[in-house]
Amino acid sequence: MVFAGPILAASAEPRTVRIGLLAFLDTEAMNSQWTPLLDHLAAALPDYKPVLVQLDHAALREAVAGQSVDFVITNPGSYVALEMEFGISRIATLDTAQAPSPMRALGSAVIVRADRQDLRTLADLADKRVSAVGEDAFGGFQLAWREFMQLGLDPFADFAQLDFVGLPMRKVIDAVTQGRADAGIVRACIVEDIPPQIRAGLRVLSPRVEPDFPCQTSTRLYPDWPIATLRATPPTLAKSVATALLAMPATPQGMSWTVPADYQSVHELFRELQTGPYSYLKEGTLRAAAVRYWPAVLMLAALLIAWIIYTVRVEYLVQARTAELRQALDERKAIEGRMRVHQEQVEHLSRLSILGELSGTLAHEINQPLASIGNYAQSLVLRVDSGRLTDAAVREASVEMAGQAERAAGILGRIRGFARKRASVRERRVPADLVREAVVLFSGMLSNRPEIRVVDGTAANGMVEVDPLQFQQVVLNLLKNGLDAMQDLPSGERRLHIALEREGDTLRVAVRDFGHGLAPEARDHLFEPFFTTKPDGLGLGLSICATIVEAHGGRLSAQAPAEGAGLVFTFTLPIHD
Ligand code: ADP
Repeated sequence: MVFAGPILAASAEPRTVRIGLLAFLDTEAMNSQWTPLLDHLAAALPDYKPVLVQLDHAALREAVAGQSVDFVITNPGSYVALEMEFGISRIATLDTAQAPSPMRALGSAVIVRADRQDLRTLADLADKRVSAVGEDAFGGFQLAWREFMQLGLDPFADFAQLDFVGLPMRKVIDAVTQGRADAGIVRACIVEDIPPQIRAGLRVLSPRVEPDFPCQTSTRLYPDWPIATLRATPPTLAKSVATALLAMPATPQGMSWTVPADYQSVHELFRELQTGPYSYLKEGTLRAAAVRYWPAVLMLAALLIAWIIYTVRVEYLVQARTAELRQALDERKAIEGRMRVHQEQVEHLSRLSILGELSGTLAHEINQPLASIGNYAQSLVLRVDSGRLTDAAVREASVEMAGQAERAAGILGRIRGFARKRASVRERRVPADLVREAVVLFSGMLSNRPEIRVVDGTAANGMVEVDPLQFQQVVLNLLKNGLDAMQDLPSGERRLHIALEREGDTLRVAVRDFGHGLAPEARDHLFEPFFTTKPDGLGLGLSICATIVEAHGGRLSAQAPAEGAGLVFTFTLPIHD
């Protein structure tokens, strides 16, 4: 049976029992101290061969982690740490002759030079240079650390200097005697062991009253070193060793073993200092919570990452869409710009076309003042020839001729203004004025003028914001269409009525003729481009008028009049007071 190997081997030759020992003295000193223990165990347990393995802090922890030892003898601080980390378990506590009880066996002495009158208590060490063994050293630092903290002194912040000089503790004593440090921290009872001439130069700060404790201590007392088993140590072996230890007589140095002490005070020390097994307390609640609630923390982190990814993606999409939109808007603006140019061209052409349609009568119109001028000139010539030329006659003829020339120039000026090509503008104007100007332009171009009546129901109250030329273009177009519709009527019956009225913030301009009117089905197509019933018509006038009116925020519509023949075109525009 292969697994029985060790037992068989044990019966053949003793099984080695490895005892890990935290070393703080040199090997020789250690051996002399612990040899009686080894001898006792070897005698009490003939089947076993106990071996002492001296290890420093780090190596001891490694040995426990790797289970390369069966037992551990170490100081209370190291024991509590290994107990919490690896579950080692004490089976006995050292009992020395010096200590009144194993529960009150260890303390620390804070030493200063005896001649330092300025240093009386532990509190006097603020801003002083202090020497200690190491941050991990139980008696060589940590016990005193607790006392300093309780006085409100943080050794790491409030000392001018904190030197960790390492083992042996002699180094700390040397630092103080040689003046490299103002104070030193050593295990209690070390001071009592140093040669008297050196000792005389030293003094223990804030010595406490600890009944029966034979050494001076600046700190409270803690339990002595324990011996502990590892989780893997066989229980029978543990029991045998425990029994043997309790039965061990005191060594010549007065060292024996007793039942395991309570190490709660050591736990308290570490908890207060937030160090060793309790160092997680110092790492803050967040970290501690993270360690304790890692699944929730993990989920939170996952959610956070998901949220970040989502946000970044949304942001990216928004940017992409915004860019697309901006591009679409730019394109739209460009198209609108091109449309506006085209619209202006169409409107211009439309104005020219009105003029073209009216040009036959226009020639006649211009002809009239020219004929009058000719007549006056003729009469002047006749008078000269007959010798009847008076100053008064010359004056009268000249005034008439000037008047006629002015009339012709006026007609041409208005036409030129109307035919001008230019970009759209907005001006605030009184609507009745605009209507009258359009009527003058219209009738100026006609020889056979219809009766045009303008009724201003707004009483010039309120303005419109329009392109005056476009406004006139609309009115002119409606007048011309009305006139076209009355071609069959005798010229005396051709009438055009323009009515302006205000309804709230809306101006309503109605242009009525008394012509042939329009069939209701044709009315639906009236504003469509190229709808015309005239043989030479273009069918663009009304559609352009509707576009102009809408561009000014209004509407153009056609209705049959309430009574009588003809058609009424009405357009609206917003009024600005
Ligand atoms: P065009 O005058 O070149 O035909 P318009 O767009 O100005 O183009 O008019 C379109 C059509 O609407 C006209 O052909 C005509 O049939 C009809 N129309 C316009 N005004 C009137 C009106 N006052 N009375 C009757 N019909 C009209």
